[in-house]
Amino acid sequence: MGKAWEDLKPYLEKMTALQTALTLFEWDTETLAPREAAPYTAKIVGILSEDYFRIVTDGKVQELAEKAAKEGRLSEVEETVLRELSEETNRLICIPPEEYRAFAELTAESAGIWAEAKKEQDFDHFAPTLKKVLDYQKKFASYQAKEGQKLYDVMLNTYEKGFDTESLDRFFGILKKELIPFLKQLTERGREIDDSFLTGNYDPGKQEEAVRYLAEYVGFDFSRGVLGESVHPFTTSLHNHDVRVTTAYSEHVDDSLFSVIHECGHSLYELGIPDELTQTLAGQGASMGMHESQSRFYENIIGRSLAFWEPVYGKLQEIFPQELGQVTVNQFVDAVNKVRPGLIRTQADELTYSIHILIRYEIEKMLVEDNLPVEELPQVWADKYEEYLGVRPENVSEGVLQDIHWSQGSFGYFPSYALGNAFGAQIYHHMKGQMDFDGLLRQGNIAAITEYLRENIHKYGKLKSSRQILKDITGEDFNPQYYVDYLIEKYKKIYEISG
Ligand code: ZN
Repeated sequence: MGKAWEDLKPYLEKMTALQTALTLFEWDTETLAPREAAPYTAKIVGILSEDYFRIVTDGKVQELAEKAAKEGRLSEVEETVLRELSEETNRLICIPPEEYRAFAELTAESAGIWAEAKKEQDFDHFAPTLKKVLDYQKKFASYQAKEGQKLYDVMLNTYEKGFDTESLDRFFGILKKELIPFLKQLTERGREIDDSFLTGNYDPGKQEEAVRYLAEYVGFDFSRGVLGESVHPFTTSLHNHDVRVTTAYSEHVDDSLFSVIHECGHSLYELGIPDELTQTLAGQGASMGMHESQSRFYENIIGRSLAFWEPVYGKLQEIFPQELGQVTVNQFVDAVNKVRPGLIRTQADELTYSIHILIRYEIEKMLVEDNLPVEELPQVWADKYEEYLGVRPENVSEGVLQDIHWSQGSFGYFPSYALGNAFGAQIYHHMKGQMDFDGLLRQGNIAAITEYLRENIHKYGKLKSSRQILKDITGEDFNPQYYVDYLIEKYKKIYEISG
């Protein structure tokens, strides 16, 4: 460790401190803060964000980082921190500060406008704001782009390094070619599955009891984590000793049960980051996609399997004797896997989920690369849903306005969800060859599975890219075929389709 690194450290620590404070405000806004607090909190958030921007783009910081790299003698963690810092600097420094601030102000407002438009089912109310947000994102991407790089590739790279339009065209192409005809086959030839008992008068207090039980069962550590409630479930991490998850309670009991298992998957990743990495720029998950691979691994591959429920279903029946007392574990597991081609992404089953993402991917490409006018979005959206899923939204709230992402300028984020599913399936395929996966689940030994994931994924934080992690685990580069095969095999079995 040289002098330059020592001098750089206080700046890095300040960056982490600011990020942590911003994360805490975000958690508070979503969970406990009173509604009237919003504009006042926004002001503080603005000041902290600007401070962060200033450090990242500070010439002195860059100089120290370059010196530290030249001095050498850095550990793997320190090298990763420098790499992350330089990527963050390159991403922000090309943006004129006044444009950055104007964009921050715009997005502080735009989510509210989106929410109003969604409530009023009025796309025109949101369209001008969306156009502004999109124009900023395109402009920023054009500043960041390397010679000849596509703007949408710049955006994709923010969330998933090592993936671009070319690799994603191939990925989504396989999904489209294989899953859409299979879905059709399943709807025409598959048996009927009853899931009516999942909806009803499920008491929220009892749901909370079940959710806490499940969180602990999958390994959530309540001495280093908090479980809260919010409209949309999410996970956030201050550091590896303070990881926070939320869930939401509705009349559909499976929503709260599976959203908590999903968020626990995210939290186990964050709790598995080692002490030497946490509170550094290398102390987060490898990528959005790898994070989502872990949450969906717990939610779907583990959580929607019969082997998982066999030892714990009795407990669930104890909590809900009226609702589930007469329902067998097999009926329950079939019901939570029922395929329902629908309009809403967050309610999608495991089979149709990535088709929702495919639609968003195609539309984002059209918006960014082909300059599709924003005004045409509702029509394009509805047409694609009809073509791929056989359903057509009746209004924009259940169509193009359902997700918050675009209002915040997160173009290029959606593909991470589908990639996460595919990463998880590839890892699962390999793990099955290494251990008696279902046997461990039947024994209630989820810790052994978590241990494997921690040793091969979680403990590396950002030291490895998602592609590198896949390669080191499976000995193979990313291969989406595992995901398609996993889905088709699983649903053929559940729906009793042969051939
Ligand atoms: Zn997630």
